[in-house]
Amino acid sequence: MAECQPCCLDMKLEEVFNCQRCGKCCQGEGGIHINPPDAEAIGKVLGLSADQFIERFTEPKGNLLSLKTGPDGYCLMYDLEIRGCRIHEVKPVMCRAWPFYSAPLKHREEFEIVKNNCPGIVRDGSWEVFVAYYQAHKDSLPSPPDIFNSGGPPKT
Ligand code: SF4
Ligand code: SF4
Repeated sequence: MAECQPCCLDMKLEEVFNCQRCGKCCQGEGGIHINPPDAEAIGKVLGLSADQFIERFTEPKGNLLSLKTGPDGYCLMYDLEIRGCRIHEVKPVMCRAWPFYSAPLKHREEFEIVKNNCPGIVRDGSWEVFVAYYQAHKDSLPSPPDIFNSGGPPKT
């Protein structure tokens, strides 16, 4: 993994990642896993208990719980009108951690896959700078459990 350079401490997130709100990562089935703190926080915002939220908005995927999608394929938390997440401030840790998952941080080829799938990754950004930015800022970035760390955008 690339070493952190002093200049990376001064970098802004937008220099490596700037979400274009394309909605691509909010469409697709079964990829957004929910953990108990997610269920608690999202339920609270929706005026539900964690159990009620789980019952209404999630479904089991193997040993995990995933957010359900609607008939249009979008996550039920996606708002097509504003083209954004209706629970942005409490969205699941998987969504908050994106794109700093372990696979693209560890492997250049995974980073290239992520870059091809997510237009929010700065187009001329290099893997080295992406990793260096993470190293410099990891204490302030969400850290999803390893089981969530896959190589592609959350739902592709
Ligand atoms: S795919 Fe990337 S650019 Fe598009 S909404 Fe998701 S994070 Fe943003
Ligand atoms: S919870 Fe929000 S950010 Fe995450 S996939 Fe659903 S709509 Fe997108």
